[in-house]
Amino acid sequence: MRTRMTRAAALGAVALLALGACASNGGGDGAADVDAGDFPEGSTMARLADAGSIKIGTKFDQPLFGLVGPNGVPEGFDVEIGKLVAGELGIDEGDIEWIETVSSVREDSIANGTVDIIVATYTINDTRKEKVSFAGPYYLAGQSLLTLKTNTDIQGVDDIGGMKICTASGSTPEQNLLENYPDAEVVPFGQYSDCLEPLRNNQVHAISTDNVILAGFAAEHDDLEVRGEQFTEEPYGIGLAKDDTDFRNFINDVLEKIFEDGRWVEAWEATAGTVLPTPEPPTIDRY
Ligand code: GLU
Repeated sequence: MRTRMTRAAALGAVALLALGACASNGGGDGAADVDAGDFPEGSTMARLADAGSIKIGTKFDQPLFGLVGPNGVPEGFDVEIGKLVAGELGIDEGDIEWIETVSSVREDSIANGTVDIIVATYTINDTRKEKVSFAGPYYLAGQSLLTLKTNTDIQGVDDIGGMKICTASGSTPEQNLLENYPDAEVVPFGQYSDCLEPLRNNQVHAISTDNVILAGFAAEHDDLEVRGEQFTEEPYGIGLAKDDTDFRNFINDVLEKIFEDGRWVEAWEATAGTVLPTPEPPTIDRY
């Protein structure tokens, strides 16, 4: 009898272990079965794994990439990428603190520790690299234009001279318009969704930012249309503290892993891929 009970208990324990392994390796919320001891002592990975939580900056107003729905939780491709990075640190998606990071606050939010990483349609460029480091890219976008469907004046970037173009302050599209399209009048707002009303009221003639962000707005609003080809390259990176090389290498390894094992495509197809074609994963830039 004693033996039998022991065996039953042992079997129960094995079953529980198996369930645990299942829940932490691909089942349930997708967090990997790792803990702080699996990472170099003193590393950001060890700190985050030990805390069991991570603060991720993302957008809250951009359909397809980072949009807060009625349940108050952001959804989109950036959000899925953030969950996959957290998961590889053994952090459940329920233990992610999502923090809204509009375009102009991203470098400061990383530098002052408001967030651990940023996944927010965040273009990698040399100016930003003076303040933060980037893993990635994990997607390649490009600047474009969005107008009302009824607008017949703007078919592409060659038509923006003399036009009022709304964009987000602190963004690369704003910078590009100011530097390279001096004939256009740049109207900056805090975030791209702030441009929708002025566009409908004819206070601005177009919105300019990355093609995929604009495609998200066009998919949600029947009266809007993306116009012309992309006229810049915007490689999306994951922002992290400047010169945290171990953490950057770790995130780059995670990205390469999810490019390979299908989780990146799965994340795309569940979010932006409902509207946009599925791209090939880009090549990681280990600068
Ligand atoms: N990718 C561009 C940037 O990082 C535009 C999109 C955005 O503002 O998030 O500035």
